[in-house]
Amino acid sequence: MHQSQLFTKTRREDPSDETSKNAKLLIRGGFVHKEMAGVYDYLPLGLRVFNKIVGIIREEMNAIGGQEVVLSTLQDPELWKKSGRWSDEAVDNWFKTKLKNDAELGLGFTHEEPLTNLARSHIVSYKDLPRYVYQFQTKFRNELRAKSGIMRTREFVMKDMYSFSRSEEEFRQFYEECAVAYMNIFKRVGLGGITYRTFASGGSFSKFSDEFQTVSEAGEDHIYIDDKKRIAVNKEVYKDEVLKDLGIKKNDLREAKAIEVGNIFPLGTRFSEALGLTYKDENGKQMPVIMGSYGIGPGRLMGTVVEILSDEKGIIWPESIAPYKIHLLSLGTEKKVISAADGLYKTLTKAGVEVLYDDRDLRAGEKFADADLLGIPYRAVVSTKTIAEDKIELTERKTGHTSKVTAKELLSL
Ligand code: ATP
Ligand code: MG
Repeated sequence: MHQSQLFTKTRREDPSDETSKNAKLLIRGGFVHKEMAGVYDYLPLGLRVFNKIVGIIREEMNAIGGQEVVLSTLQDPELWKKSGRWSDEAVDNWFKTKLKNDAELGLGFTHEEPLTNLARSHIVSYKDLPRYVYQFQTKFRNELRAKSGIMRTREFVMKDMYSFSRSEEEFRQFYEECAVAYMNIFKRVGLGGITYRTFASGGSFSKFSDEFQTVSEAGEDHIYIDDKKRIAVNKEVYKDEVLKDLGIKKNDLREAKAIEVGNIFPLGTRFSEALGLTYKDENGKQMPVIMGSYGIGPGRLMGTVVEILSDEKGIIWPESIAPYKIHLLSLGTEKKVISAADGLYKTLTKAGVEVLYDDRDLRAGEKFADADLLGIPYRAVVSTKTIAEDKIELTERKTGHTSKVTAKELLSL
């Protein structure tokens, strides 16, 4: 991509109406645009990051047997009435709308009800189980607060997976596999080591759930971490009997603020019973399907990465989700420099390397500042000086370490 042709521009000043670091940096870099409080657009650079996160999640979900679908956002109230979740008393963040004839519709904030209902057409016997179905789908939630940038928005894509199992044991085995897949995802996007499986309340579903919490001052949750066991407990369930159940000692725990990047729930038969999802077991007996649900917000994950992997100059993307791998900068307007940089860009892209090429006629200082802000892992500079040495100046964004390399070395990074 030639930066001179890029749809977006960077800006020097923080947006005045944002308090969170992730929104400030992502807007300054032109990754996202704020439509209104709690509503953001993803722009070319931001969408590349978002799609890479989605790609990692998809790989991990497929690896544990997930099958991808996309359900509708418009929701039939009748299904939600069956589970008791249509009323605004039961669910305080519904966005609802109406048809021309005044009939009500909902904009889905989650998908247990429609997916359970649709599974009735496809899951009939014990031979049809277990099944694991997931989607990347837009949710609408009328969130009270929207001060955390892209980490808490009123419209967002969620990866939600639902498991359908024959027995508690079969469910539990998958639940644990999914917990492992979740930890792989957080590690792969650059949040390994600071993300903890966290014991939490089950809300209206069950007694408990497991959250995945990334330690950060920007977090809205409080957790207690056991560093030796590498697990945590959410403050909402931080009670003596819970700690005893988990075999955790109060003295081993440290308190921290954290961001909930994912959440997995045992649903039991809460939805299968309400919506009539049963299967015929080996003895011909109708049994309710045992379910679980598993959520991750790729946008929240992207915001979390920015909160944690950034400095005073800008973002520091991990290579796995960076919009491009190399940020190629040409310095000066000398013909020799431009043709050398053009040639290098061609060589790199031909070899499949993802390159953002800053070919704009700007001062070196401005180009460097933009490179720091955009946070692409490697900055490669071509200038009169580097051409004289037949080398390229390579700087790693993460460490600031600079070295002189050949084009061949750049290719094998
Ligand atoms: P929170 O307690 O932070 O509101 P939640 O318990 O409502 O989260 P879930 O319903 O379990 O979240 O949703 C699953 C995942 O979807 C969350 O772990 C988070 O990654 C993401 N998510 C939830 N709400 C939002 C939101 N408003 N904006 C962006 N991502 C969200
Ligand atoms: Mg919520």
